[in-house]
Amino acid sequence: MPDPNHQGPTRTAGAGQAPGAGRGRGQGRGPQAPSILLESLADGGPTIPLFTLGGRVSDALFAAAGKKADDVESAINTKPAPASFDIPAVTVELHTVTAESRRANSYNVIGMIEGGDPALRAETIVFSGHFDHNGAGPAGIYHGADDNSSGAVGVVALAHAFAANPVKPRRSLLFIVFAAEERGLLGSYYYVSHPLRPLATTRAQINFDMIGRNEAADPRVITEISPDTSNQLGLIGTDYSPDYRETVERQNKIVGLNLTYKWDLDAYNSVLFRSDQYPFLLHDVPAIWWFTGFHPDYHQVTDTVEKINFEKMAKIVRLAYLSGFEFADEQNPPRLEPRAKTR
Ligand SMILES: [Zn+2]
Repeated sequence: MPDPNHQGPTRTAGAGQAPGAGRGRGQGRGPQAPSILLESLADGGPTIPLFTLGGRVSDALFAAAGKKADDVESAINTKPAPASFDIPAVTVELHTVTAESRRANSYNVIGMIEGGDPALRAETIVFSGHFDHNGAGPAGIYHGADDNSSGAVGVVALAHAFAANPVKPRRSLLFIVFAAEERGLLGSYYYVSHPLRPLATTRAQINFDMIGRNEAADPRVITEISPDTSNQLGLIGTDYSPDYRETVERQNKIVGLNLTYKWDLDAYNSVLFRSDQYPFLLHDVPAIWWFTGFHPDYHQVTDTVEKINFEKMAKIVRLAYLSGFEFADEQNPPRLEPRAKTR
């Protein structure tokens, strides 16, 4: 998950100053707003200036329409549906600041297991995580054990498990570890711009990003934390697909994790668009981020392997296996909440 305040040496200059997707679902406004770059960056560099407004400016702007940014955001979240309106008699002047950027190549890594049904194998279920992190800096090596070795390991473990089972579910399974997530979801934005399988028949995505730790208080994050997070898993975005949530909950009766949906009620940390499920959600794929929460080692050189809760991680991967099998095999795969569709 990208940290908007990351100051590492590999950071793309300007990323932290250009937060917010600026369109689509869940625009962030808090100080933790995300550093999501335009997807055009994956295709040769940004050509369209990107601006994000904070609460102070947007309140002043919305005042001309008699609205407050917080109220509009709540209304959007409640439905969930866009709430567009005209702002009368206001002129806005925007000035760009030239930011440096650095070009480099990276690669998404993808494998597929073909489905067992001659017709339904054209459809796809995606399992994903990202394999990049923040390299090294003055503080040392950013090991990224939780963020996101845990997720990448989960995807590979699932691929092994599905491959080992002679019974194949009916739809095809795509396993993706994305590049450059920490630079602004570049790998996943690239994928949805250049999909290997049609997105219209991509029926669900299970995205792992940080599935290895017990959530713990971190001064950078404002959230309520349960007294015991050792068996807890967060699912982000299920409001957009109650069907998806129902399947995971049914399978979880076998696995027994404590599921939390608290991140969907949270506007401050703006998590919805801070991982690789978000570009898929923008393309109307029921795409959910599986996440065990923040902790003080998040984006620190202290995110190391001995702190991983492997017992919980194994349960999460089992739950993803069972849920993913059902998504790939069931007659009616999860639908996106109709009111949330963007096209
Ligand atoms: Zn991260």
